[in-house]
Amino acid sequence: MNRKMIIIGGGTAGLTAGCYAQMNGYETTILEMEDTPGGLCTSWRRKNYLFDGSVAGLAGSAPGSPIYRLWEEIGVAQYCPLHYGENFGHIRLTDGRIITIFANIDRLEAHLLEHFPTEAAVIHEFTGALRNVLDLDIPFSDARGFEAVKEGFRTFLASIAHLPVLLKYGTLSIRQFNRKIRDPHLATVFNNLVHFGGLDVPILTVLLPLAYAHRGMAGIPLRGWLSFAHAIERRFHELGGTTRYRAKVEKLLITNGAVQGVVLADGEQLLAERVISAADGRFTQGLLPGVSEKDLEGYLQPEDLSDQPVQVNLGAAMDLSGINGPMTYILSQPFSAAGREHPRITMHNKYYDSEAAPQGHSAVTVFLDSEYGWWKRTAADPQAYEEEKRRCADEVIAAIDRYLPGFAQRVEVIDVSTPLTRERYTGNWMGAMQARKPSANMIRALMQGSPRYAVQGVQGLYVTGQWAESWGGITTAAQSGRKTIQAVCKQDGILFRAEKPA
Ligand SMILES: Cc1cc2nc3c(=O)[nH]c(=O)nc-3n(C[C@H](O)[C@H](O)[C@H](O)COP(=O)(O)OP(=O)(O)OC[C@H]3O[C@@H](n4cnc5c(N)ncnc54)[C@H](O)[C@@H]3O)c2cc1C
Repeated sequence: MNRKMIIIGGGTAGLTAGCYAQMNGYETTILEMEDTPGGLCTSWRRKNYLFDGSVAGLAGSAPGSPIYRLWEEIGVAQYCPLHYGENFGHIRLTDGRIITIFANIDRLEAHLLEHFPTEAAVIHEFTGALRNVLDLDIPFSDARGFEAVKEGFRTFLASIAHLPVLLKYGTLSIRQFNRKIRDPHLATVFNNLVHFGGLDVPILTVLLPLAYAHRGMAGIPLRGWLSFAHAIERRFHELGGTTRYRAKVEKLLITNGAVQGVVLADGEQLLAERVISAADGRFTQGLLPGVSEKDLEGYLQPEDLSDQPVQVNLGAAMDLSGINGPMTYILSQPFSAAGREHPRITMHNKYYDSEAAPQGHSAVTVFLDSEYGWWKRTAADPQAYEEEKRRCADEVIAAIDRYLPGFAQRVEVIDVSTPLTRERYTGNWMGAMQARKPSANMIRALMQGSPRYAVQGVQGLYVTGQWAESWGGITTAAQSGRKTIQAVCKQDGILFRAEKPA
C-alpha cells in the first residue's frame, strides 16, 4: 500500500488532519473546492472592512490547558495571535441598564448581585455551577501503555468528581434553569447569555464557554478567523503537504471494496489509497456506494441541525471601539425579517483589531435567527430574495441607530449572507453553522465516547470534522482531524507521532 492520502475539504478538520498525516509520513493532498482554506472558519473583506464568519472563542487556547498542545502542534499558537476579551458581552435591557457578562466569575457574580439583589439564590447557583466546571478540561491525550492506563484512571476520577454537575447541567436546558428566575430583567439576561443555539440546549453549553473565558483560554484570532485557517495551512505546507484550491470532489473511485482515489468536478482523477472526507456529512454519505437520494432523506432531520442564521455585516464611519464585547440590545420595538420576529440583536464589533476597519471606523456583524427552508422558498423568486436580504440589513441598521444615533447615516458597506450563501461556499447541509446541535447526549460525548472514523465497508476511507462528531465547533473539528489520523495510523500499524514546530 502506498502512503498517498487525499483529504476532501480544507476546513479546520481537513487542515488539521493534513498536518498530522504529514507528521506520520503520509504524502497528503488537501482538495478544497473554494479558493481559500477555512471552510466555515473564515473572514472576508468588503472594501476596507473585515468581517468574521465565526464569532466566539477558541476553547483551550492558553498554556496550561491540556488541549493547548493541539494548538501548538498545528501552528495556531505560533502563527495566529489571539485576543482575550475581558467579558463575554453586554446586554442592554429595556430599562436602559447595561449588564456585562464578565469573564471573571467573581466580578460577574458581584455585578449580577448588585443589579439583582433579590435573586441572590439563583445567581449563586449559576456562579456555583460555573466554579464547579472550572477545572473540567477538554479531554486531550495520546498517552500510550502504562501512561495511558494512568491517564485513563485520572480522567475517570475527574469525571466521577464532575458527574453530578455534568448530569445536572448537561440535561437541564437553559429554559428550564431560567424558570427559577422571578425578576423579568434577570430572566432576560439569562435568556441572552448565548447568541446561538436557542434556549433548549443544555445549560452546560453556556457554563463551559464562560468557564473557559474565566481561565483566559477562549482567545479570538486577532486578525480574523481566516488568519487562523492560514496558520494551520502554513504549518501543513511546512510539513510538506500540498493544497489544491478550486478542486471540487464529485466521486470516489472504489474497486473491490477499497478506495483508490477521487474524481473532481472537471473529470480529473486523483489516486490515493487513503481518502479522508472532511466535508459535509450528508455529502460524504452520498459518495458511498449504493446510497441513493432516498437514503439521504433519512440521514439527518432539519430539527437536529444547529442554527442557520442570516449574517448582516456593516462597515460604518463611526468609532465603536468603546464597545468592548458583543452588545445585545433588547429591542423595545422588535422587528420582523427573514420570516421571524427579532426581539433582540447582538452586535459583534471587532474593536480589538485595528486593521479590521479604517481609523475611526468600525466593522460590525449581527446574526439574525433564520431557517434554511424559509430562505430556500424565498429564493425561488430571486428579486424577493435580494429584497429580503436588504430588509434584514435595513432593520438591523434602524435598530442600532436607535441606540447609537447617527449610525444609519454612517453606514458605508452592507454585506448580507444567508444560509444559502453558507451552503454554496462550504457545502454544509442547509447552511448549518456547526453541524448538529448539542443535545443531552453531550455528557456521553464529553466523557470520551468518540465515534469511529473508518467508514465500514470501504477500505481506506475515513470521515472527519464536525459531522463525524456529536456537535460542531472549531475545537471539535480540529480535535476530530487529529483523532482521525490516530485511527488511520492504528489501522496501518504505525505508532502515532505528533510534534510542535521547531
Ligand atoms: C456564523 C458562524 C459562527 C461560528 N462561531 C463559532 C465559534 O465562535 N466557535 C466555534 O468553535 N465554532 C464556531 N462556528 C462553527 C465552526 O466554524 C465549525 O464548526 C467548524 O469550522 C467546522 O469545521 P470543519 O472543518 O468540520 O467543516 P467546514 O468548515 O465546513 O469545512 C469543510 C470544507 O470542505 C470543503 N468542501 C465541501 N465539499 C467539498 C467538495 N466536494 N470538494 C472539495 N472541498 C469540499 C468546504 O469548502 C470546506 O472548506 C461558527 C460557524 C458559523 C457559520
